[in-house]
Amino acid sequence: MEAEQAAAANTAAGQPAADAKPRREKIVVDTPDFSDYSGILIVVEQRASEAKKVSWQLLGEGRKLAQKMDTELMALVIGSDVGELAQEAIYRGADKVYLCDSEELRDYRTRPYSRICLHVIATVKPEIVLMGATYVGRDLAGAIATHLPTGLTADCTQLDVDENRLLLASRPAFSEKMLATIMCKQYKPQMATARSGVFLALPRDQSRTGEIIPVPAQMSADEIVTQVLKFLEQTEHVNLEDAEIIVAGGRGLGGPEPFALLQDLADALGGVVGASRAAVDAGWIGHDHQVGQTGSTVRPKLYFAIGISGAVQHVVGMQNSDVIVAINRDPDAPIFKVANFGIVGDLFAIVPAITKAVKERRQLPFAAKPAAMEAVAATSG
Ligand SMILES: Cc1cc2nc3c(=O)[nH]c(=O)nc-3n(C[C@H](O)[C@H](O)[C@H](O)COP(=O)(O)OP(=O)(O)OC[C@H]3O[C@@H](n4cnc5c(N)ncnc54)[C@H](O)[C@@H]3O)c2cc1C
Repeated sequence: MEAEQAAAANTAAGQPAADAKPRREKIVVDTPDFSDYSGILIVVEQRASEAKKVSWQLLGEGRKLAQKMDTELMALVIGSDVGELAQEAIYRGADKVYLCDSEELRDYRTRPYSRICLHVIATVKPEIVLMGATYVGRDLAGAIATHLPTGLTADCTQLDVDENRLLLASRPAFSEKMLATIMCKQYKPQMATARSGVFLALPRDQSRTGEIIPVPAQMSADEIVTQVLKFLEQTEHVNLEDAEIIVAGGRGLGGPEPFALLQDLADALGGVVGASRAAVDAGWIGHDHQVGQTGSTVRPKLYFAIGISGAVQHVVGMQNSDVIVAINRDPDAPIFKVANFGIVGDLFAIVPAITKAVKERRQLPFAAKPAAMEAVAATSG
């Protein structure tokens, strides 16, 4: 009775009764009207007027999505002396290219580049914006998505669209144990970055025509507060992503010295040396040689996996190679499931034998690749 009186007194005084249920207010989130958004925009990345391969690969994938959505494929090229790249983007699949060509934009810096992207996105209103998951792409995409704001799925390995024009951006999650498909339902544009080597570029088609639309730089030189003073080139940098032949080694090598054997084979074939994370973590070789989920994704014509077991985190980075040759003393090693040629045995006997055979055949008037394949076939047979 006392409690009832206290509750009545509280209510009369404008305070909620102690046992009164909290009021639930219905919050209605209006879905903004995105009906005026259309088209797919690929941000082309370049350095010294040379495009990153991933940009053309994204135009290839973007073309497929644009066809499915019955929409336009656009590219945005930013830089200095990049007019030819705009034309190239058309040859590589773009219908329309926005071109911001200015001396101040020679070097990438977040603010001027993101301002231009934001201006183009506000004007063009694309449904989807894609860029490479490179150092620059990751920085730029993050800055744009935060500013808009919209969702961003980083490091995608698959892209698709559903019947509602939603981008299905898939990326490995939980140490590659699952593929997570991420959608951005409430915001536009839908944004994603994708790794180099995952998608295929279209063949260059010089008969393609398209429109090039100039875009003004959104900041003057004196408004740009950061300056690039100089680039320090990494002396021992290995370019795995562009390599046509990779000779990769793993924990089976047992130490850093046997990488010299792999280097010999790579030199004989005109390739470069790669590695598994186990070899990198052991300090036998530098991180820029690492292939896999936390290293580079590669798509060479020929990939040697030597003393590498074939863990899923490694395989995800090299499974799209044209020809895979695995050398492992364990016949049940998972790497043999993705290999086109499997050689069961001791790498210390097999690798020098292949190198010797390649060198001998290279003295004949044969090209490197047939020589390599013949040598492998002879050794595995
Ligand atoms: C989040 C996460 C991210 C990762 N990212 C990566 C990545 O980017 N790249 C990557 O590679 N790994 C990555 N890993 C690690 C991965 O799970 C494996 O541990 C690693 O790939 C194993 O390297 P390995 O095959 O060289 O070594 P092991 O698995 O130890 O295999 C060594 C192989 O060498 C063979 N061998 C031994 N001696 C000889 C010999 N004399 N001759 C022939 N064969 C021999 C053995 O039979 C064995 O199959 C990641 C793991 C996690 C959890």
